[in-house]
Amino acid sequence: MPMLHGCAFPGCSTFTLSTYCVEHELLVRALKESERAQVAAHDEIADAADAALTADTALTAAAPESAAT
Ligand SMILES: [Zn+2]
Repeated sequence: MPMLHGCAFPGCSTFTLSTYCVEHELLVRALKESERAQVAAHDEIADAADAALTADTALTAAAPESAAT
């Protein structure tokens, strides 16, 4: 029978059967994948940031008064 032990994530004391608790298992996996994909996805992220900025600018330009209230 596998032993329960504390999550390996610093500051987390959730007991788990794997290295990390479910929450941090997902977090660590996402971090690793984002690190691995960082170079490849750089253009994608830059595009997304540009789109977000453009959308934000468009929103602000469309409703400058209502956005403030
Ligand atoms: Zn954890």
